[in-house]
Amino acid sequence: MSDQRSMIRDAMQAIAQRKPGKSKLVYDKTKRTIVAVSEGVPTPQALNITADDADMFGVVTLSSGWLRDKWSSLTKAGSLPVGFSSWDDGDALTQLELCIQGSGTHAAATLVLGQQQGQASEGIVISIVPTDKPTHRSDVFVSPDNIAYRGELIEPAGPAANPRDVVFADIEPQLDLRRAGILETTVLKDRTVLCIGLGTGGALVAVELAKSGVGHFILVDRDRLSVGNVVRHPGGISQVGRTKVNVTRNLILEKNPGAQVEVHVMDVGFENRDVLAGLVQASDLVICGTDNRQSKLLINELCVSADKPAVYGGAFRRAYGGQILRVRPKQSPCQQCFVSSLPDEASDVEVSSQDDADAIAYSDRPVAVEPGLSLDVLPIATQLAKLAMLELLADKSSTLNVLKRDFDAPWYLWLNRPEPGTQYADMPPLSESRDEMTINRWYGIYFERDEQCPVCGDFLSGLAAAYGLDSTQLPALPEKE
Ligand SMILES: [Zn+2]
Repeated sequence: MSDQRSMIRDAMQAIAQRKPGKSKLVYDKTKRTIVAVSEGVPTPQALNITADDADMFGVVTLSSGWLRDKWSSLTKAGSLPVGFSSWDDGDALTQLELCIQGSGTHAAATLVLGQQQGQASEGIVISIVPTDKPTHRSDVFVSPDNIAYRGELIEPAGPAANPRDVVFADIEPQLDLRRAGILETTVLKDRTVLCIGLGTGGALVAVELAKSGVGHFILVDRDRLSVGNVVRHPGGISQVGRTKVNVTRNLILEKNPGAQVEVHVMDVGFENRDVLAGLVQASDLVICGTDNRQSKLLINELCVSADKPAVYGGAFRRAYGGQILRVRPKQSPCQQCFVSSLPDEASDVEVSSQDDADAIAYSDRPVAVEPGLSLDVLPIATQLAKLAMLELLADKSSTLNVLKRDFDAPWYLWLNRPEPGTQYADMPPLSESRDEMTINRWYGIYFERDEQCPVCGDFLSGLAAAYGLDSTQLPALPEKE
């Protein structure tokens, strides 16, 4: 048995050094276990266990894009310094150029073109040497002069001390490849989304759009991430104290490093009307995740007058449900039409922070902070992101286009639970429902535009008709400032 143990140790060392040793590991199919056998012994009933199967190596990741950019410097100088973010006691080293948010522990290394002779005297050395491995492999780098290379790690303590594979990350092509076929990535790269309100829902939507390949973001929010936000917001505890726009910017870049992200720390109020109007003008789509009616109406007015589609999302109190309104100016009802048809909306809107509670203190009664669970906000955010994608790809062919048939309503309603005290308290259980409303389903709701809507309709004609006047005889309104 001790013989077997020493053979296993020998085989493990051989795997770590990626060299043949005195013994090797095999999976014995009859015994159903892993055993060590002497190298050279035929084992017809067994499977060989290789270094790749062992998957015991740390990984050093270099940026292909960076290396291509620096290639002429490397060929001229013969070596280049390279910095890494070191994770998990050095188990993973990720080149700093790839890190939006690094580990806090850095490791320095030297990149050397050609075989490094002997062991490195100090620090980590990565030799970049020609290889005949196929170029699609992640451990192969193709230089600008079209030669395949691999990286070989040499550490001061010797090659087997901390075995690590060297791989190359080619960010943009690799991310595009995963999205290609499903989405029109080149179109999305050119699209600009204005995200107003980066609480849990707004930030989740922004990150989903980044994953889908949207290339330009403008973020607007006045708040900072607090400890209490962390249970719901995609930003984590290490981000507490930062503005939500900057937290979200990093989350976007972690998913889509090529994205352009512009941030604005400000209130969504009339005092910032002109700045907001400029941002709306610069965008293709507006996503409004603010949780008070005034800000939604202000954004609505700006979007309708700039003819920009907008999607508004929000949760009900303690997120027992949520709703989404999609506005295509002058084609579908706007936020003002919506509010006019549903006057009680504000009373049931979710209040998730004391600031929000203060902002909507519309009565003498103190407004309680009643946040819901992240789990209950997620379905609303994903649906909102999907509707946003449909708008961004509206005039392009994509696999999402088949959804136009299903998502043709202006207003969407979702319920997470039959909340006591609401009109949904007596919904039938999900399993027993026939045609009745239940939890966990999206309902598309149709309602008409208000022809006399002061924002998107012909308000003057309506007013004139109400007073028995001929609207064509009314004096023209002064131009808006
Ligand atoms: Zn309207």
